[in-house]
Amino acid sequence: MSLLLTGIAELTTNDPARGDGHAAPADRGDALLGIVRDAAVVVAGGEIAWVGPASEAPDADERRDLGGRAVIPGFVDSHTHLVFAGDRSAEFAARMTGTPYDGGGIAVSVAATRAASDGELRALVAGRVAEMRAQGTTTVEIKSGYGLTLDDELRSLRIAREVTPHTTFLGAHVVPREYATDRAAYVDLVTGPMLDAVTADGPTSLATSIDVFCEPRSAHAFDGDESRTVLEAGRAAGLALRVHGNQLGHGPGVRLACELGARSVDHCTYLDDSDVEALAAARGTTVATLLPGVEFSTRSPYPDARRLIDAGVDVALASDCNPGTCYSSSIPFAIALAVREMGMTPAEALHAATAVSARSLGLDRRVAPGQPAELAVLDAPSHLHLAYRAGVPIVRALDL
Ligand SMILES: [Zn+2]
Repeated sequence: MSLLLTGIAELTTNDPARGDGHAAPADRGDALLGIVRDAAVVVAGGEIAWVGPASEAPDADERRDLGGRAVIPGFVDSHTHLVFAGDRSAEFAARMTGTPYDGGGIAVSVAATRAASDGELRALVAGRVAEMRAQGTTTVEIKSGYGLTLDDELRSLRIAREVTPHTTFLGAHVVPREYATDRAAYVDLVTGPMLDAVTADGPTSLATSIDVFCEPRSAHAFDGDESRTVLEAGRAAGLALRVHGNQLGHGPGVRLACELGARSVDHCTYLDDSDVEALAAARGTTVATLLPGVEFSTRSPYPDARRLIDAGVDVALASDCNPGTCYSSSIPFAIALAVREMGMTPAEALHAATAVSARSLGLDRRVAPGQPAELAVLDAPSHLHLAYRAGVPIVRALDL
């Protein structure tokens, strides 16, 4: 059965071959977003079959009129920690009255996650994924990292894999309390028995990537040498690389990610000129994924997206949905922050949360024939409303 979608006032395709090609002001974004106005889309068998002006649309078995709404590629949330139990709202409240964040609260989520049953964790993850879909996210990456034992990390990855193919092994999230006096033994566990178990049934049978919280300023996270050890072991085992870097201060994370060819280095809040140069040189390989919900939720300075884009860096946006530093699953919220606080245009922010975040997962996210039909629809005529109507639930995944 084929379905013809009409009544699309504005279609974002992310396809550079589309759009009106005019030298539009940057915030219109026609060229960047490949916008088609008064568009139609034909969907068949879960894929896009045809895209173009409504006046040229072919016939289909069924038709649906979207009533003058904007359609965009579904958001690709390329950085989340959805497998956790417990409640850290009191920690958030304490931060808002001046307690700084140092990564230590992760241990609270580790204890609660270890204590939860499989069924409880599964229900929590499913609820969070549904919450994201209701806000326009159709693709999600999920990390482990609240288990931190071999069995608990495997369990987290298995539960994540039930809802997405984009799973990341984050055994090196923090050093768990039981290893606080022997950090090297924990790195050995992550790079040895844990990694062996994660890849036992084939390199990407349980995780597609490995990640590390590289943050020498946190007593709980990993320094540059430890991070290199984790990433090199993951790469040797066949996993793609991701890095949490430069979140709390200047450090080696960004340069390490670029040197090792990581797909993404995430946070990038504190960057010196050499970090920006390394990211610009790594364009096409390493994406800088900015997570402004974290700066919002930790009352920290925002990363300078404008500086990165102007330097030629690939910039993505994601939620970092997690129980400590950002319990928001909302990509529209991240887009609004990026536009209001980080110097991104609305078009750049939407592109970052779809095309660029997709690339960081090894995906192509265009609305073009042969692509999966993963779309979101706005109760508004233009993508500009995503930031303009901040906090209003105007976007949702399109159920086809
Ligand atoms: Zn994270």
